[in-house]
Amino acid sequence: MIEVDARGVVEFTRALVRIPSTNDPARGRSEQPAADLVAAKMREWGWEPSVYEAAPGRPNVVAVVEGGGGDGPTLMFEGHTDVVTEGDLSEWTVDPFGGEIRDGKLWGRGSADMKSGLAATLYATRALQLAGPFPGRIKVCALADEEGLMLGAHHFVAEGLTAGVDGAIVAEPEAGEICAVAKGALRLRVDLTGKMAHGAMPQHGRNPVEAVGALLTALRALQAELQERHPAHEHLGEVYVTPTVVRAGTEEQVNVIPATASVFVDVRTVPGVSHDDVAARVAALAAVSRDGVAADVSVLVDRPPVDVPVSTPVVAALAAAHRDVTGAEPVYGGVPGSTDGTVLTHWGGVPSVVYGPGGKWIAHQADEYVEVDEIVRCTRVFAEAARRFLTGTLS
Ligand SMILES: [Zn+2]
Repeated sequence: MIEVDARGVVEFTRALVRIPSTNDPARGRSEQPAADLVAAKMREWGWEPSVYEAAPGRPNVVAVVEGGGGDGPTLMFEGHTDVVTEGDLSEWTVDPFGGEIRDGKLWGRGSADMKSGLAATLYATRALQLAGPFPGRIKVCALADEEGLMLGAHHFVAEGLTAGVDGAIVAEPEAGEICAVAKGALRLRVDLTGKMAHGAMPQHGRNPVEAVGALLTALRALQAELQERHPAHEHLGEVYVTPTVVRAGTEEQVNVIPATASVFVDVRTVPGVSHDDVAARVAALAAVSRDGVAADVSVLVDRPPVDVPVSTPVVAALAAAHRDVTGAEPVYGGVPGSTDGTVLTHWGGVPSVVYGPGGKWIAHQADEYVEVDEIVRCTRVFAEAARRFLTGTLS
Protein backbone atom coordinates (compact mmCIF):
# COMPACT_ATOMS: atom_id res chain seq x y z
CA MET A 1 0.00 0.00 0.00
CA ILE A 2 1.28 3.47 -0.87
CA GLU A 3 2.09 5.63 2.15
CA VAL A 4 0.05 8.85 2.23
CA ASP A 5 0.52 11.96 4.39
CA ALA A 6 -2.68 11.59 6.46
CA ARG A 7 -2.09 14.65 8.61
CA GLY A 8 -1.05 16.76 5.62
CA VAL A 9 -4.15 16.05 3.53
CA VAL A 10 -6.48 16.87 6.43
CA GLU A 11 -4.65 20.10 7.30
CA PHE A 12 -4.62 21.14 3.65
CA THR A 13 -8.38 20.51 3.42
CA ARG A 14 -8.87 22.73 6.49
CA ALA A 15 -6.76 25.47 4.92
CA LEU A 16 -8.89 25.31 1.75
CA VAL A 17 -12.16 25.35 3.72
CA ARG A 18 -11.00 28.51 5.52
CA ILE A 19 -11.00 30.32 2.18
CA PRO A 20 -14.56 31.43 1.26
CA SER A 21 -14.13 30.72 -2.44
CA THR A 22 -17.68 31.41 -3.59
CA ASN A 23 -18.08 33.28 -6.85
CA ASP A 24 -19.30 36.53 -5.37
CA PRO A 25 -17.50 39.61 -6.71
CA ALA A 26 -19.79 41.93 -4.70
CA ARG A 27 -18.30 40.49 -1.50
CA GLY A 28 -14.81 40.39 -2.98
CA ARG A 29 -14.86 36.61 -3.25
CA SER A 30 -13.69 34.30 -6.02
CA GLU A 31 -11.73 31.09 -6.51
CA GLN A 32 -8.47 33.06 -6.75
CA PRO A 33 -7.13 32.60 -3.20
CA ALA A 34 -8.03 28.89 -3.18
CA ALA A 35 -6.35 28.45 -6.57
CA ASP A 36 -3.30 30.34 -5.24
CA LEU A 37 -3.10 27.98 -2.25
CA VAL A 38 -3.28 24.93 -4.52
CA ALA A 39 -0.58 26.35 -6.82
CA ALA A 40 1.63 27.18 -3.81
CA LYS A 41 1.35 23.62 -2.50
CA MET A 42 2.23 22.26 -5.93
CA ARG A 43 5.32 24.52 -6.11
CA GLU A 44 6.34 23.49 -2.60
CA TRP A 45 6.55 19.93 -3.95
CA GLY A 46 8.57 21.02 -6.96
CA TRP A 47 5.70 20.76 -9.42
CA GLU A 48 5.33 23.49 -12.02
CA PRO A 49 1.66 24.42 -12.20
CA SER A 50 0.27 26.38 -15.13
CA VAL A 51 -2.44 28.90 -14.41
CA TYR A 52 -5.14 29.65 -16.97
CA GLU A 53 -7.77 32.36 -16.55
CA ALA A 54 -11.09 30.61 -17.19
CA ALA A 55 -12.64 34.04 -16.57
CA PRO A 56 -11.14 37.20 -15.05
CA GLY A 57 -9.94 36.39 -11.51
CA ARG A 58 -11.14 32.80 -11.85
CA PRO A 59 -8.11 30.62 -12.54
CA ASN A 60 -7.68 26.98 -13.48
CA VAL A 61 -4.54 25.46 -11.95
CA VAL A 62 -2.99 22.51 -13.80
CA ALA A 63 0.18 20.57 -12.95
CA VAL A 64 1.56 17.65 -14.92
CA VAL A 65 3.53 15.24 -12.75
CA GLU A 66 5.77 13.00 -14.86
CA GLY A 67 6.35 9.57 -13.37
CA GLY A 68 9.87 9.19 -14.75
CA GLY A 69 9.20 5.48 -15.20
CA GLY A 70 8.92 5.37 -18.97
CA ASP A 71 6.06 5.53 -21.40
CA GLY A 72 2.56 5.17 -20.09
CA PRO A 73 -0.89 6.64 -20.06
CA THR A 74 -2.02 9.98 -18.69
CA LEU A 75 -4.38 10.07 -15.74
CA MET A 76 -6.23 13.24 -14.85
CA PHE A 77 -7.35 14.11 -11.34
CA GLU A 78 -10.00 16.81 -11.30
CA GLY A 79 -11.34 18.98 -8.53
CA HIS A 80 -13.00 22.38 -8.35
CA THR A 81 -11.96 25.28 -6.15
CA ASP A 82 -15.31 27.08 -5.98
CA VAL A 83 -17.98 26.43 -3.35
CA VAL A 84 -21.61 27.43 -3.14
CA THR A 85 -22.64 30.21 -0.78
CA GLU A 86 -22.90 29.49 2.94
CA GLY A 87 -26.43 30.93 2.80
CA ASP A 88 -28.20 31.93 6.00
CA LEU A 89 -25.65 31.85 8.84
CA SER A 90 -28.36 31.14 11.41
CA GLU A 91 -28.80 27.71 9.84
CA TRP A 92 -25.22 26.80 10.76
CA THR A 93 -24.07 25.54 14.15
CA VAL A 94 -20.41 25.94 13.13
CA ASP A 95 -18.44 28.65 11.36
CA PRO A 96 -18.88 27.72 7.66
CA PHE A 97 -15.33 28.87 6.97
CA GLY A 98 -13.71 27.80 10.23
CA GLY A 99 -12.37 24.40 9.19
CA GLU A 100 -13.27 23.04 12.63
CA ILE A 101 -12.72 19.36 13.43
CA ARG A 102 -15.13 17.89 15.96
CA ASP A 103 -16.47 14.35 16.53
CA GLY A 104 -14.20 13.00 13.81
CA LYS A 105 -15.71 15.34 11.24
CA LEU A 106 -14.28 18.32 9.41
CA TRP A 107 -16.99 20.97 9.19
CA GLY A 108 -17.57 23.80 6.76
CA ARG A 109 -18.70 24.91 3.35
CA GLY A 110 -16.80 22.94 0.75
CA SER A 111 -15.53 20.36 3.24
CA ALA A 112 -17.31 17.65 1.22
CA ASP A 113 -17.99 19.50 -2.03
CA MET A 114 -15.17 19.30 -2.76
CA LYS A 115 -12.12 20.66 -1.01
CA SER A 116 -11.41 17.33 0.71
CA GLY A 117 -11.60 15.58 -2.66
CA LEU A 118 -9.35 18.18 -4.26
CA ALA A 119 -6.83 17.86 -1.41
CA ALA A 120 -6.97 14.06 -1.78
CA THR A 121 -6.05 14.28 -5.48
CA LEU A 122 -2.98 16.39 -4.68
CA TYR A 123 -1.81 14.26 -1.77
CA ALA A 124 -2.44 10.99 -3.61
CA THR A 125 -0.33 12.17 -6.53
CA ARG A 126 2.39 13.33 -4.16
CA ALA A 127 2.33 9.98 -2.36
CA LEU A 128 2.72 8.05 -5.61
CA GLN A 129 5.56 10.36 -6.68
CA LEU A 130 7.41 9.81 -3.38
CA ALA A 131 6.92 6.03 -3.68
CA GLY A 132 9.19 5.96 -6.73
CA PRO A 133 9.07 6.27 -10.53
CA PHE A 134 5.87 5.31 -12.34
CA PRO A 135 5.01 5.08 -16.03
CA GLY A 136 3.15 7.90 -17.72
CA ARG A 137 2.01 10.97 -15.90
CA ILE A 138 -0.70 12.51 -13.78
CA LYS A 139 -2.39 15.77 -14.62
CA VAL A 140 -3.66 17.36 -11.42
CA CYS A 141 -6.32 19.96 -12.12
CA ALA A 142 -8.10 22.44 -9.85
CA LEU A 143 -10.75 24.14 -11.95
CA ALA A 144 -13.02 27.15 -11.38
CA ASP A 145 -16.78 27.55 -11.61
CA GLU A 146 -18.06 24.00 -11.34
CA GLU A 147 -21.01 25.27 -9.33
CA GLY A 148 -21.92 27.82 -11.99
CA LEU A 149 -21.63 27.40 -15.74
CA MET A 150 -18.59 25.10 -15.54
CA LEU A 151 -16.52 27.81 -17.21
CA GLY A 152 -13.36 26.21 -15.83
CA ALA A 153 -14.00 22.81 -17.40
CA HIS A 154 -15.18 24.32 -20.68
CA HIS A 155 -12.08 26.54 -20.81
CA PHE A 156 -9.89 23.52 -20.02
CA VAL A 157 -11.37 21.62 -22.98
CA ALA A 158 -11.24 24.67 -25.28
CA GLU A 159 -7.53 25.10 -24.49
CA GLY A 160 -6.93 21.56 -25.72
CA LEU A 161 -5.81 20.36 -22.29
CA THR A 162 -7.75 17.09 -22.53
CA ALA A 163 -5.54 16.02 -25.47
CA GLY A 164 -3.72 12.81 -24.60
CA VAL A 165 -5.62 12.29 -21.34
CA ASP A 166 -6.71 8.65 -21.09
CA GLY A 167 -9.01 8.83 -18.10
CA ALA A 168 -10.19 11.25 -15.43
CA ILE A 169 -11.17 10.84 -11.80
CA VAL A 170 -13.47 13.60 -10.60
CA ALA A 171 -13.34 13.99 -6.82
CA GLU A 172 -16.95 14.96 -6.06
CA PRO A 173 -18.54 13.64 -2.84
CA GLU A 174 -20.27 10.37 -3.72
CA ALA A 175 -20.16 8.56 -0.38
CA GLY A 176 -17.59 6.08 -1.63
CA GLU A 177 -19.70 5.03 -4.62
CA ILE A 178 -18.05 4.64 -7.99
CA CYS A 179 -20.12 6.77 -10.32
CA ALA A 180 -19.44 6.23 -14.01
CA VAL A 181 -22.89 7.43 -15.04
CA ALA A 182 -24.43 10.85 -14.58
CA LYS A 183 -27.76 12.33 -15.40
CA GLY A 184 -28.01 14.84 -18.22
CA ALA A 185 -29.41 18.33 -17.76
CA LEU A 186 -31.11 20.37 -20.44
CA ARG A 187 -32.52 23.78 -19.59
CA LEU A 188 -34.83 25.38 -22.09
CA ARG A 189 -36.53 28.74 -22.36
CA VAL A 190 -39.75 28.97 -24.34
CA ASP A 191 -40.81 32.46 -25.40
CA LEU A 192 -44.41 32.80 -26.52
CA THR A 193 -45.43 35.89 -28.44
CA GLY A 194 -49.07 36.82 -28.96
CA LYS A 195 -50.79 40.15 -29.34
CA MET A 196 -51.56 42.62 -26.57
CA ALA A 197 -55.21 43.57 -26.10
CA HIS A 198 -57.72 44.97 -23.60
CA GLY A 199 -59.11 42.35 -21.25
CA ALA A 200 -62.58 43.54 -22.21
CA MET A 201 -61.92 42.73 -25.87
CA PRO A 202 -59.86 39.55 -25.90
CA GLN A 203 -61.10 38.80 -29.39
CA HIS A 204 -58.67 41.46 -30.67
CA GLY A 205 -55.64 39.87 -29.02
CA ARG A 206 -53.74 36.60 -29.06
CA ASN A 207 -53.21 35.45 -25.51
CA PRO A 208 -49.83 33.83 -24.73
CA VAL A 209 -51.00 33.04 -21.17
CA GLU A 210 -53.44 30.46 -22.52
CA ALA A 211 -50.62 29.07 -24.64
CA VAL A 212 -48.64 28.66 -21.41
CA GLY A 213 -51.40 26.46 -20.02
CA ALA A 214 -51.50 24.31 -23.12
CA LEU A 215 -47.72 23.99 -23.11
CA LEU A 216 -47.57 22.94 -19.43
CA THR A 217 -50.07 20.17 -20.10
CA ALA A 218 -48.14 19.06 -23.18
CA LEU A 219 -44.87 18.98 -21.21
CA ARG A 220 -46.47 16.68 -18.67
CA ALA A 221 -47.44 14.33 -21.46
CA LEU A 222 -43.95 14.53 -22.95
CA GLN A 223 -42.48 13.48 -19.61
CA ALA A 224 -44.80 10.48 -19.45
CA GLU A 225 -43.86 9.51 -23.00
CA LEU A 226 -40.11 9.80 -22.31
CA GLN A 227 -40.44 7.78 -19.08
CA GLU A 228 -42.30 5.12 -21.01
CA ARG A 229 -39.70 4.95 -23.77
CA HIS A 230 -36.68 5.17 -21.40
CA PRO A 231 -37.34 3.07 -18.28
CA ALA A 232 -35.86 4.18 -14.96
CA HIS A 233 -32.07 3.78 -14.96
CA GLU A 234 -30.74 1.57 -12.15
CA HIS A 235 -28.46 4.32 -10.81
CA LEU A 236 -30.09 7.47 -12.18
CA GLY A 237 -33.82 6.95 -11.91
CA GLU A 238 -36.40 8.57 -14.17
CA VAL A 239 -36.34 11.17 -16.92
CA TYR A 240 -37.96 14.40 -15.71
CA VAL A 241 -39.40 17.31 -17.66
CA THR A 242 -40.05 20.01 -15.08
CA PRO A 243 -41.38 23.50 -15.77
CA THR A 244 -39.67 25.72 -13.18
CA VAL A 245 -40.42 29.33 -14.13
CA VAL A 246 -43.44 30.97 -15.74
CA ARG A 247 -43.45 34.65 -16.59
CA ALA A 248 -46.38 36.57 -18.04
CA GLY A 249 -48.31 39.77 -17.47
CA THR A 250 -48.17 42.02 -14.41
CA GLU A 251 -50.33 42.28 -11.31
CA GLU A 252 -50.82 46.00 -12.04
CA GLN A 253 -52.37 45.18 -15.42
CA VAL A 254 -54.95 42.51 -14.71
CA ASN A 255 -57.12 43.99 -17.47
CA VAL A 256 -54.45 43.58 -20.14
CA ILE A 257 -53.65 40.53 -22.23
CA PRO A 258 -49.85 40.62 -22.35
CA ALA A 259 -47.99 40.32 -25.62
CA THR A 260 -45.45 37.81 -24.34
CA ALA A 261 -45.00 34.95 -21.91
CA SER A 262 -42.07 32.70 -21.08
CA VAL A 263 -41.77 29.20 -19.66
CA PHE A 264 -38.47 27.76 -18.41
CA VAL A 265 -38.07 24.00 -18.40
CA ASP A 266 -35.51 21.86 -16.53
CA VAL A 267 -35.13 18.49 -18.23
CA ARG A 268 -33.15 15.71 -16.54
CA THR A 269 -32.21 12.80 -18.74
CA VAL A 270 -30.70 9.31 -18.59
CA PRO A 271 -28.32 7.72 -21.13
CA GLY A 272 -30.10 7.09 -24.42
CA VAL A 273 -32.14 10.30 -24.41
CA SER A 274 -31.09 12.73 -27.14
CA HIS A 275 -31.14 16.33 -25.95
CA ASP A 276 -31.54 17.58 -29.52
CA ASP A 277 -34.65 15.43 -29.89
CA VAL A 278 -36.11 16.68 -26.61
CA ALA A 279 -35.46 20.32 -27.53
CA ALA A 280 -37.08 19.74 -30.93
CA ARG A 281 -40.11 18.10 -29.30
CA VAL A 282 -40.56 21.00 -26.89
CA ALA A 283 -40.29 23.43 -29.80
CA ALA A 284 -42.94 21.48 -31.71
CA LEU A 285 -45.26 21.36 -28.69
CA ALA A 286 -44.88 25.09 -28.12
CA ALA A 287 -45.51 25.84 -31.79
CA VAL A 288 -48.86 24.08 -31.87
CA SER A 289 -49.98 25.63 -28.59
CA ARG A 290 -52.87 27.79 -29.89
CA ASP A 291 -54.39 30.88 -31.45
CA GLY A 292 -51.55 32.13 -33.58
CA VAL A 293 -49.17 32.57 -30.67
CA ALA A 294 -45.60 32.28 -31.94
CA ALA A 295 -43.09 30.19 -30.02
CA ASP A 296 -39.34 30.36 -29.84
CA VAL A 297 -37.23 27.85 -27.90
CA SER A 298 -33.70 28.55 -26.75
CA VAL A 299 -31.29 26.14 -25.08
CA LEU A 300 -29.82 27.71 -21.93
CA VAL A 301 -27.81 24.75 -20.68
CA ASP A 302 -27.06 21.47 -22.42
CA ARG A 303 -25.15 18.86 -20.42
CA PRO A 304 -25.68 15.41 -21.88
CA PRO A 305 -25.87 12.28 -19.70
CA VAL A 306 -22.62 10.41 -19.05
CA ASP A 307 -22.44 6.66 -19.54
CA VAL A 308 -18.90 5.31 -19.13
CA PRO A 309 -18.77 1.47 -19.07
CA VAL A 310 -17.42 0.02 -15.81
CA SER A 311 -14.89 -1.99 -17.84
CA THR A 312 -13.16 1.26 -18.92
CA PRO A 313 -9.59 1.27 -17.51
CA VAL A 314 -10.05 4.33 -15.28
CA VAL A 315 -13.20 2.86 -13.71
CA ALA A 316 -11.68 -0.62 -13.36
CA ALA A 317 -8.52 0.81 -11.72
CA LEU A 318 -10.59 2.81 -9.27
CA ALA A 319 -12.81 -0.15 -8.40
CA ALA A 320 -9.78 -2.37 -7.77
CA ALA A 321 -8.15 0.35 -5.65
CA HIS A 322 -11.34 0.75 -3.62
CA ARG A 323 -11.25 -2.99 -2.93
CA ASP A 324 -7.53 -2.87 -2.02
CA VAL A 325 -7.93 -0.04 0.47
CA THR A 326 -11.33 -0.65 2.03
CA GLY A 327 -11.47 -4.45 1.78
CA ALA A 328 -15.04 -4.06 0.57
CA GLU A 329 -16.56 -4.68 -2.84
CA PRO A 330 -17.07 -1.47 -4.81
CA VAL A 331 -20.57 -0.05 -4.93
CA TYR A 332 -21.54 1.52 -8.23
CA GLY A 333 -23.80 4.54 -8.29
CA GLY A 334 -24.85 7.50 -10.41
CA VAL A 335 -24.46 11.25 -10.19
CA PRO A 336 -27.88 12.88 -9.89
CA GLY A 337 -26.69 16.18 -11.38
CA SER A 338 -23.85 16.94 -13.72
CA THR A 339 -20.22 17.58 -12.82
CA ASP A 340 -17.10 18.80 -14.59
CA GLY A 341 -16.80 15.14 -15.61
CA THR A 342 -19.75 15.68 -17.95
CA VAL A 343 -17.78 18.36 -19.79
CA LEU A 344 -14.56 16.33 -19.83
CA THR A 345 -16.30 13.24 -21.18
CA HIS A 346 -18.73 14.78 -23.63
CA TRP A 347 -16.68 17.65 -25.07
CA GLY A 348 -13.16 16.55 -24.12
CA GLY A 349 -13.57 12.90 -25.10
CA VAL A 350 -12.06 11.71 -21.79
CA PRO A 351 -13.75 8.81 -19.99
CA SER A 352 -14.44 10.07 -16.48
CA VAL A 353 -15.56 8.56 -13.22
CA VAL A 354 -16.75 10.41 -10.12
CA TYR A 355 -15.62 9.30 -6.68
CA GLY A 356 -14.70 11.23 -3.57
CA PRO A 357 -15.03 11.73 0.17
CA GLY A 358 -18.23 13.07 1.70
CA GLY A 359 -21.91 12.20 1.54
CA LYS A 360 -23.90 12.65 -1.64
CA TRP A 361 -26.64 14.72 -0.07
CA ILE A 362 -24.57 16.86 2.31
CA ALA A 363 -23.29 19.10 -0.47
CA HIS A 364 -24.75 22.63 -0.50
CA GLN A 365 -26.45 22.16 2.91
CA ALA A 366 -25.83 24.02 6.17
CA ASP A 367 -23.46 22.20 8.55
CA GLU A 368 -21.70 20.53 5.63
CA TYR A 369 -19.05 18.10 6.84
CA VAL A 370 -16.79 15.26 5.80
CA GLU A 371 -15.53 12.40 7.96
CA VAL A 372 -11.82 12.92 8.60
CA ASP A 373 -11.12 9.19 8.15
CA GLU A 374 -12.85 9.28 4.80
CA ILE A 375 -10.48 11.98 3.51
CA VAL A 376 -7.48 9.82 4.33
CA ARG A 377 -9.08 6.64 2.99
CA CYS A 378 -9.98 8.37 -0.25
CA THR A 379 -6.42 9.69 -0.63
CA ARG A 380 -5.20 6.10 -0.36
CA VAL A 381 -7.76 4.92 -2.91
CA PHE A 382 -6.73 7.68 -5.34
CA ALA A 383 -3.04 6.79 -4.97
CA GLU A 384 -3.71 3.09 -5.58
CA ALA A 385 -6.07 3.86 -8.45
CA ALA A 386 -3.39 6.00 -10.10
CA ARG A 387 -0.74 3.30 -9.64
CA ARG A 388 -3.03 0.64 -11.08
CA PHE A 389 -4.18 2.80 -13.99
CA LEU A 390 -0.68 3.91 -14.95
CA THR A 391 0.86 0.45 -14.67
CA GLY A 392 -2.12 -1.24 -16.35
CA THR A 393 -2.84 -3.39 -13.27
CA LEU A 394 -6.58 -3.26 -13.58
CA SER A 395 -7.71 -6.27 -11.62
ZN1 LIG B 1 -18.81 19.76 -6.45
